[in-house]
Amino acid sequence: MIAPKIMVVEDEEPLGVLLRYNLESEGYQVEVVMRGDEAELRLQENVPDLLVLDWMLPALSGIELCRRLRMRPETERLPIIMLTARGEESDRVRGLSTGADDYLVKPFSTPEFMARVKALLRRAKPEVLSSVLKVGDIVLDREAHRVYRKKNEIKLGPTEFRLLEFMMRHPGRVFSRSQLLDNVWGETIYIDERTVDVHVGRLRKAVNSGRMPDVIRTIRGSGYAIRED
Ligand code: CA
Repeated sequence: MIAPKIMVVEDEEPLGVLLRYNLESEGYQVEVVMRGDEAELRLQENVPDLLVLDWMLPALSGIELCRRLRMRPETERLPIIMLTARGEESDRVRGLSTGADDYLVKPFSTPEFMARVKALLRRAKPEVLSSVLKVGDIVLDREAHRVYRKKNEIKLGPTEFRLLEFMMRHPGRVFSRSQLLDNVWGETIYIDERTVDVHVGRLRKAVNSGRMPDVIRTIRGSGYAIRED
């Protein structure tokens, strides 16, 4: 099962460490970034499932980053929890005029933070937490590790399963080979982008067997997407 990805942008190192520890214990994939400008660059490469964003950050403030993210189509609906210290223009945060979905005032308790993360994911990205994904006539059961097309079970290798799971979590969205590598294989693994083509080819063969319509779209020069209908 591909764990939901959470980016934490926090310049107070101990807090970043604490949040990472707690989120990882719950099974999330976590990336901690300490600067606003660095976070902006990372978010142009890879969009997580949820962003925890501190209000006051070096180089680029959380509020300005939030405003910019809301202007880009890839991140306009990215779930964002804003962190703020008491007294830091919290009225504006409270009004959520920043475009954040939720906010927490420091110091907050860890259980409170974890509950807010889960609640926001459940509200904004239920597909990230649900164990069964459905796109068109394909059903993927993440817990049982099974895939069905029109009720016929499809046997997939572990990489093809993760590839399908990732694409089904974002139906219709086009992913480049390097984005698929980062999200399905992991960012620390260096393999050739052509490997993605090999596995997409295998996945396609398996899910389309029996002359079924092709569920995977190849976008020349861009990458791959799963058909929404
Ligand atoms: Ca700060």
